Amino acid sequence: MPAFAPVGTQATVKTVSPHELEEVGAALILGNTYHLYLRPGSDTIAVLGGLHRFMSWPHPILTDSGGFQVFSLEGLREIDEDGVTFRSHIDGSQHRFTPESVIDIQESLGADIVMCFDECAPPDDRAYIERAMERTHRWAERCRQSQTRSDQALFGIVQGGIFPDLRAESARFLTGLDFPGYAIGGLSVGEPKEQMHAVLDIVTPLLPPDKPRYLMGVGSPEDLFEGVSRGIDLFDCVLPTRVARNGGLLTCQGRINIRNAGFAQDSAPIEDGCDCYTCRHFSRAYLRHLIKANEVFGLRLATVHNLRFVLRLMAEIRTSILDGTFARFKTDFLREYRTVPYEVREAQRARRGSNRKQQSGA
Ligand SMILES: [Zn+2]
Repeated sequence: MPAFAPVGTQATVKTVSPHELEEVGAALILGNTYHLYLRPGSDTIAVLGGLHRFMSWPHPILTDSGGFQVFSLEGLREIDEDGVTFRSHIDGSQHRFTPESVIDIQESLGADIVMCFDECAPPDDRAYIERAMERTHRWAERCRQSQTRSDQALFGIVQGGIFPDLRAESARFLTGLDFPGYAIGGLSVGEPKEQMHAVLDIVTPLLPPDKPRYLMGVGSPEDLFEGVSRGIDLFDCVLPTRVARNGGLLTCQGRINIRNAGFAQDSAPIEDGCDCYTCRHFSRAYLRHLIKANEVFGLRLATVHNLRFVLRLMAEIRTSILDGTFARFKTDFLREYRTVPYEVREAQRARRGSNRKQQSGA
């Protein structure tokens, strides 16, 4: 049954407490190996009883492998067959990740689901992608071998860019290593949606149906439906929390920007019928005021709503699967949900209105 994991990069989902995470229905959150290794240090977290106790989150945690962050450090990292040497984005100090050290760090952090160290490549450079994929496979074997804890589920990561034959090869190779779950990496990095869907159509049928399939870094409402349609069980994404802090709020009609002047005296909640704390207590006008005044409480209320929106949507998706009504739910939802932001739609509506007035000679 599909689930969504909010992102808690630095051992916190930005602006919200563990209690609020429980309230919005989060069952699993993601922590970042790269960030926690650098600060406060995985050894420190281990001394303090592991990530669950450190951040007071008694529910499941997933840590990524740090691969994506390290490879994003363009100019600050050097890759070789054995691992990656890189400089910290915080103080420039030099560090090294290998498949073995990344597993060791994740064992110190103590998450329930851990990831193999993978090499992320630019999305369309075929020769580079092929080399990176083959290295990712060798690193996956090393990660598997270096694992010492039996209470952590280690997921392999399917790579191969946008190339169907490479994706298929990667899925076949990794399933041969018999991981307890599989992630699909290197997507939603700027490629057209159709390409992402095409990759999922190739990869998911090749993965064992009884093991979880995790689509990394994807989680806009429309992507959740498209991923679930193609057999994805787990998503993580910074989108709902990141856009919230910029005043972008998710509703069934699409994303609205609460900074918009049209909300200045709007006494309605962000969304009628939303059961989140924000919508039960506050108006759009109040939230707009807080966000415009840069008040911390505004960031928190906006984050609570967006997380609740996505997590409730996932719950409704699960119910629709059980009821056998998922296809209809998807069609109905996507008909209403606009990817065009509210202010653009408002401007279009105003333009249409004035055109009509001109045509009628008003
Ligand atoms: Zn709400």
